[in-house]
Amino acid sequence: MTTSPAITVLEKDLNSHGGVFCPSPLAQMPIWNHHPKVFLDVSTTGQATCAYCGTRYVLSWGPADQHPSA
Ligand SMILES: [Zn+2]
Repeated sequence: MTTSPAITVLEKDLNSHGGVFCPSPLAQMPIWNHHPKVFLDVSTTGQATCAYCGTRYVLSWGPADQHPSA
């Protein structure tokens, strides 16, 4: 299995639960790669990987990519 490119998500892209849904329009995945909609919590660890398609979502905290901890 190859490594999927990481999708950078901004805080504004998060829904009210602090995560994103996959498939996401941000991922620009081909139609054949779509799968049941799943919720991925990216706010807890700053990233999440979709168990279906392997797409990795990484939370970006801002233009300067300022993480709360190194
Ligand atoms: Zn997915």
